[in-house]
Amino acid sequence: MSRSPQAESISQQASSTEMSHYQVLQVAPNASLEEIRKAYQSLALRLHPDKARHADDTIDEEGVIVDFVRIDEAWKVLRDVESRRVYDAELMQHTCREEYFVNEILTEKDFTYDPTEGYRYHTCRCGGLYILPEEELASEESCYLSCDECSLVVQVDVV
Ligand SMILES: [Zn+2]
Repeated sequence: MSRSPQAESISQQASSTEMSHYQVLQVAPNASLEEIRKAYQSLALRLHPDKARHADDTIDEEGVIVDFVRIDEAWKVLRDVESRRVYDAELMQHTCREEYFVNEILTEKDFTYDPTEGYRYHTCRCGGLYILPEEELASEESCYLSCDECSLVVQVDVV
């Protein structure tokens, strides 16, 4: 486990206009498999082309089919731990972290200076550390730090 500080500026890249698999299934990005399964099942039931055709004649059939395909695609990715992990990683690169992973918003005052190590740190609830690199103190922008033990992220605002 590396203790090297990880800090990234907010990505200016707008999030993709395409909905994420989580948005398609209307679940939180940290939803459990069971929650995702339930969401998939209820949506699939409603939007399955066979059902929808009978349910409402005014529904645009093509649109319904596309929706169902999209839900099915999302479910196939998210139901598998490994493919979900890969997908989450891709999502991280396209989406501002803030929406998904920011656990706490801190300022420099929330960090304790460790004279032995020569850095400022904040203890994560898992017992790991968020390490604030010196160069971030001089920065004009908020930054994100990830815990060195778990996947939580804090946002550090400039005061
Ligand atoms: Zn942690």
